[in-house]
Amino acid sequence: MDTSHARPPKIIARADHSISRADISGNALKVLYRLKEAGFHAFLVGGAVRDLLLGLHPKDFDIATDAEPEEVRKLFRNCRLIGRRFRLAHVFFGQEIIEVATFRASTATDAPDGDDDQAMPDDIDSEHRVVHASGRILRDNLFGTIDHDVWRRDFTANALYYNIEDFSIWDYVDGVEDVRARVLKVVGDPAARFREDPVRMLRAVRFAAKLGFTLAPETSAPIPELRPLLAAVPAARLFDEMMKMFLKGAALESWRWLQRYRLEAALFPATAKFFAEHEGAAERVLLERGLESTDARIAADKPVTPTFLFAVLFYGPIRAAALKLQEKGAPETQALYLACDQVVKAEQKSISIPKRFTLPMRDMLALQPRFRRRDGRKALALLENTRFRAAYDFLLLRCEAGLEDPELGTWWAHIQTLPQEERLALVESQPAGESRPPTPRRRSRRRGRRGGRSPGTQTSG
Ligand code: ATP
Ligand code: MG
Repeated sequence: MDTSHARPPKIIARADHSISRADISGNALKVLYRLKEAGFHAFLVGGAVRDLLLGLHPKDFDIATDAEPEEVRKLFRNCRLIGRRFRLAHVFFGQEIIEVATFRASTATDAPDGDDDQAMPDDIDSEHRVVHASGRILRDNLFGTIDHDVWRRDFTANALYYNIEDFSIWDYVDGVEDVRARVLKVVGDPAARFREDPVRMLRAVRFAAKLGFTLAPETSAPIPELRPLLAAVPAARLFDEMMKMFLKGAALESWRWLQRYRLEAALFPATAKFFAEHEGAAERVLLERGLESTDARIAADKPVTPTFLFAVLFYGPIRAAALKLQEKGAPETQALYLACDQVVKAEQKSISIPKRFTLPMRDMLALQPRFRRRDGRKALALLENTRFRAAYDFLLLRCEAGLEDPELGTWWAHIQTLPQEERLALVESQPAGESRPPTPRRRSRRRGRRGGRSPGTQTSG
């Protein structure tokens, strides 16, 4: 790509922007100053500058410098070099890691190193750079200067440099203006940059969702055509991206943005197919409420687990598959087990999901029918089950979505409040057998507001 390196940056002086050192991590400042004192250029870059301009608290502070990784290592005792594709320095301060990257020469992706193994390079245009036939860059190790580095960044809002020398912002791409206008704009030619790294399409919707930005028209325009390129992205990288999308407090918005650009099928093919075939399914309400409660837990600093998230995202196709299996005569619990395996297998075609999440998800979903038995020991045993808490939260979601009788949720909420002897008395007073499941495939949308406590995502999952 032509990077017009001659173009000088706009330099926004300290007096003309809102970034204050008081809001920058003390450890990041230490690293910046140490680099500067050693005679190098040092800038705070990327998401941290963007978030500080927006008045948000950055979750991490990345630094870019002209010092090469070995030079960085020599300056810090607590430093390790990582990465095969790009050598990066990590400077450790207890829990906090400050990432220090040497300016890169040209367009390149930040994909994890694992990618290199996924595709055979079709073209090697230098000893350092490996380019795939599709235009996807697989490896790039050349160091450059700041006016090269800027052109390989994804969005203008992410391409700002805060200079520790005089606390000014260096802006090559009118990024400050775009942050102020809350618009995401690809750096350079959007189609070319999406081809280079299709995950940038997902990053676009993730940032839009998280920051409340819109996509510039020229940035969103190529997405419909280029969306299929996501199929070639390694499943493990999609999993990582998905975790950032759904476990950082903007899950519901991210889901909406994914749907707006029809990108959800790239992550969850079985779920996308289910909703395409069942427009007004109650499972959609379950999904949205589930994501909403995940966001609420994150906002309240409560723990969340991917297990619950996957249950929420996959429940539509799982329930549909289970009902089919039941029609063929499989018992309900067994049908749920089999359906989980089928759907996980289908979703795994796009995204890798570790067993440590899918197995507990399956147990949690297979417990659902057992909530209908309220009499005797079985009911008491369910209360003692290690997955009870997560399964109960999921039951509440199903009640909210109209997929289960709300009275059942209320009953299980009540019994948990009772002391042991009273629990026994209650289950012994129940009529034997199961309460009836609601009519399958109920389509109507839930009416009225949600009541009672809201279900949450469990750590125990
Ligand atoms: P977050 O708040 O989610 O961490 P971030 O902007 O810091 O947002 P990171 O994934 O941490 O995002 O990446 C840091 C910076 O590296 C980005 O701001 C961007 O400049 C650059 N970058 C990351 N991934 C890519 C990519 N796939 N293509 C181009 N540039 C990227
Ligand atoms: Mg970051």
